[in-house]
Amino acid sequence: MIKVGIPRALLYYQYYPAWKAFFEALGAEVCVSPPTTQNMLVSGSSRVVADTCLPVKVFIGHVISLVGKCDYTFIPAIRSLKSKTYNCSKFLGLPDMTRAVVPESPHILEIEIDINRGKRQLYQSIYKLGRHFTWNPLQVRQAATAAWQAYLDYQEMMSRQGLTPPQAIERISGTPDTMPESHSSPATPPRATIGLIGHPYLLYDEHINYQLVRRLEQADNRVLTPEMLATPQLEATIARLVGRSYWTYEEEVVGAGGYYLQNKADGIIGVMAFGCGPDSLMMDMVHRQANRQKTTPFMCLTLEEHTSEAGVITRLEAFIDMIYRKKRRQVEVCV
Ligand code: SF4
Repeated sequence: MIKVGIPRALLYYQYYPAWKAFFEALGAEVCVSPPTTQNMLVSGSSRVVADTCLPVKVFIGHVISLVGKCDYTFIPAIRSLKSKTYNCSKFLGLPDMTRAVVPESPHILEIEIDINRGKRQLYQSIYKLGRHFTWNPLQVRQAATAAWQAYLDYQEMMSRQGLTPPQAIERISGTPDTMPESHSSPATPPRATIGLIGHPYLLYDEHINYQLVRRLEQADNRVLTPEMLATPQLEATIARLVGRSYWTYEEEVVGAGGYYLQNKADGIIGVMAFGCGPDSLMMDMVHRQANRQKTTPFMCLTLEEHTSEAGVITRLEAFIDMIYRKKRRQVEVCV
């Protein structure tokens, strides 16, 4: 059976169930790289120029870890998912860049997704990908339909049940993941509700964010993430704040940040990678909105490979303590 390797990095958190459904429907076996380790980060960093963002370095480390374990490595080039929105340039050239810096990688299976070029081009790209497994267009079409359904089920599972991507993937595949069970509906009231915004590859990679979600939940806080909101809620927030979105995945930062600033959260933590162009703009919009509202504290955590665990913990504790104090003061004023 053909083995397709999927790096557990970048878009894995958004689309893994769909990719798995697609390749399995075409008779392939899917093999995912293990959770990020320091060795992966070091090996990924050693292959790319220094100013490459942390998530791409991690991604390259995952590709290297799959060498010798699969027949193909799947790396999509996602250019645009909505009309007149554009993705970060790192995603556009990901297959080519990987080929250049990891020449020993198994053959790279790629697909170009660009909605701006129309549906016909999209169908041709899907068929071209499927041709590595079958010449039967009907079977490719059925695999694409299974993938789309798996994606919708995954999205609905996260927004309805308040699950993070690793928790939802664990339920779908029956494979234990590294994230703790969600405390989104604890028996006792949480000490604070924290909205965590940013791309999933920053929020759920426990190695690079020093177990951010786990730390917040273990301190009896409720953590709300972008995936817990439905698409219409995110789109309505973006329309209110900035008119229309320019970046693909803007919902994960501006949509979720704007929504949690107005609803449910006692504080917002924005997580971004050092040197990230799109996030420096999007996070700033949320920061400005928080400053205008003056009701919900906002903190931005910037991650890179030199970020120290002690630094992250200190900032986190100071931010959370400030929220607890604010909440205590509000109770005292009321009584
Ligand atoms: S959006 Fe930012 S963090 Fe993500 S790949 Fe692009 S530069 Fe890196």
